[in-house]
Amino acid sequence: MNPAPLVYITGASSGLGQAMALQYYARGWQLALVARRTEELTRWTQEQGLDAARVRIYGADVSQVDAIVEAGRRCIAEQGLPEVVIANAGISVGIDSAIYEDLAVMQRVYATNNIGLAATFHPFITPMNQRGRGSLVGIASVAGIRGLPGHAAYCSSKAAVISYCESLRGECRPFGVRVTTIAPGYIDTPLTRKNRYHMPFLMSAESFAMAAVRSIEAGHRFRVIPWQMGVVARVLRLLPGALYDRLL
Ligand code: NDP
Repeated sequence: MNPAPLVYITGASSGLGQAMALQYYARGWQLALVARRTEELTRWTQEQGLDAARVRIYGADVSQVDAIVEAGRRCIAEQGLPEVVIANAGISVGIDSAIYEDLAVMQRVYATNNIGLAATFHPFITPMNQRGRGSLVGIASVAGIRGLPGHAAYCSSKAAVISYCESLRGECRPFGVRVTTIAPGYIDTPLTRKNRYHMPFLMSAESFAMAAVRSIEAGHRFRVIPWQMGVVARVLRLLPGALYDRLL
């Protein structure tokens, strides 16, 4: 019998990372979960009643290149090569003005959102290409498609995620490895709550995760999941479960 496939997710101690982890778990996958707050992450997996035999937790700060590369190598050694790697960890610092930019803040955002994303993928790229199969997934943002005043560092970091993933996609395609970029709009998570981006119909992290996992399975190149889909998801919720799953 084939072992259950493995997904590796950074930023798994909160919001979208947790929601995507639950989607894969429900599909029978094994989980490799990465975050700095490993105690929080362990407590959450226990609260969710996840089977410890199917879940491994790796503590790493993605902005520390050696640490996150080492986490990826440990995952390969301990659990095998994942089918899907999701570079999801990211930060937004609230207002960051291009005029009054605190360059130390900008460095921190790029170190996490960009260097962190590349370093997350790094240990997996060559082994996946050699195997000739797998998916690398970058979590960008609609903020990376068009810059917003007051969010210069965050928007430009997410534009770089889109561009980086496109380059990677072209390089990995000949080997049979897929790269999917996902650009969410506002989703209800601790990140949006902290920054008070509150609108009446924010999409739930669960609905986002359902749509994201569907895109990864389909091998989409670039998927925008706008906040307005939160409204659509609420309407679809009124339909029988199977239809909701299919249409979202
Ligand atoms: P949260 O703030 O809820 O979660 C962020 C996650 O990233 C946490 O698990 C955190 O874990 C991890 N993380 C942050 N910095 C680091 C680091 N240096 N090293 C390791 N892990 C880190 O955010 P969301 O779930 O909302 O966001 C997830 C991704 O989605 C981000 O890339 C974000 O930019 C993107 N996004 C989110 C949107 C939204 O509306 N929510 C919209 C568009 C994009 P820990 O602190 O334990 O390390």
